[in-house]
Amino acid sequence: MITEDIQARLQSIKVVSFDLDDTLWDCEPAIIRAERVLHQWLTENTPKIAERYDVDALRAHRMSFNAKFPELTCDVTALRKASLAALMDEVNYPVEYAEIAFSTFYRARSEVDLYHDAISVLESLKQGYSLTALTNGNADLDIAGVNHLFDDVQRASVSLAPKPAPDMFHVTADNLAVRPHEILHIGDNPETDVGGSHNAGTMSVWFNQRNDTWPDHLQPADIEISGLGELVTILPLCQRAD
Ligand SMILES: [Mg+2]
Repeated sequence: MITEDIQARLQSIKVVSFDLDDTLWDCEPAIIRAERVLHQWLTENTPKIAERYDVDALRAHRMSFNAKFPELTCDVTALRKASLAALMDEVNYPVEYAEIAFSTFYRARSEVDLYHDAISVLESLKQGYSLTALTNGNADLDIAGVNHLFDDVQRASVSLAPKPAPDMFHVTADNLAVRPHEILHIGDNPETDVGGSHNAGTMSVWFNQRNDTWPDHLQPADIEISGLGELVTILPLCQRAD
């Protein structure tokens, strides 16, 4: 239910911000597919690695590598590249191969299957609002086919703290010349998306498409939706594009 107070605060919104993974597409199928594509590349180009490491073993290697270098946890690109470089070094391939292997993974990882209404909702919202993406992941919006709809995108890295830290929200506010309370952030994750919104002082929407129960220990979102299309009816300055 949207209270009068929430409706009044929605009048101030100028920027609609989206989490990406599990908000505009399912993340896990894209990662699983990309890890298979990567392993195929390793089989063809660095067979000594492919023979030692199947897809599961590559994942385990990355996790144990991450345990040794926890500072890379917030930067999934740096972590994957460093893990691949360590593997190249282990069997005496040029470490530069790690960049090529990562590019192969990254392209496949970004070839996501958008939710059926994602494009039409973004197009509708774009008629009244600036759109931005804030992700703790690393998907490429060009490859995903939605880059033309976004005015800004921020990805967590070693130099930009991941959600729920407020940093990415505040960089977005600076880039788009708005105040935090003029941003509405939508995401599936109670801790990182909704918690990050609270930390940054933006409005928040919990995208709860699987009918999950809200974790009691966390401060609830301002608004809860189960489908992206609800945004079009909630936000005052947009029209349906379809
Ligand atoms: Mg997400």
